[in-house]
Amino acid sequence: MNQTIGYKYHNCKQLPEKDIEIVYADFQDNAGIKQWWLHLYREATEKDLMDDEADIIGEILFSNIIVISFCPFCGKLLNELHFTKRTIPRLRTT
Ligand SMILES: [Zn+2]
Repeated sequence: MNQTIGYKYHNCKQLPEKDIEIVYADFQDNAGIKQWWLHLYREATEKDLMDDEADIIGEILFSNIIVISFCPFCGKLLNELHFTKRTIPRLRTT
């Protein structure tokens, strides 16, 4: 996936080097609402070309996204904004 302005990537030492990224973006054109996503994908290799599975190397053969709050590799809480909002005590009205 190309680097896009306004997108953030979780810089994780435990993240596999290939075919997975954790990105903060509005992936589904969600009215500009950004969330943390686990993006799983597979880029075509030379072998896929030989097997007639792809036309060019680097072509995305598979791609799927899942909304996440924590990094599934290092356990870091990513969605701090969301967390903060839910834990702010309500103001007393009396
Ligand atoms: Zn991580």
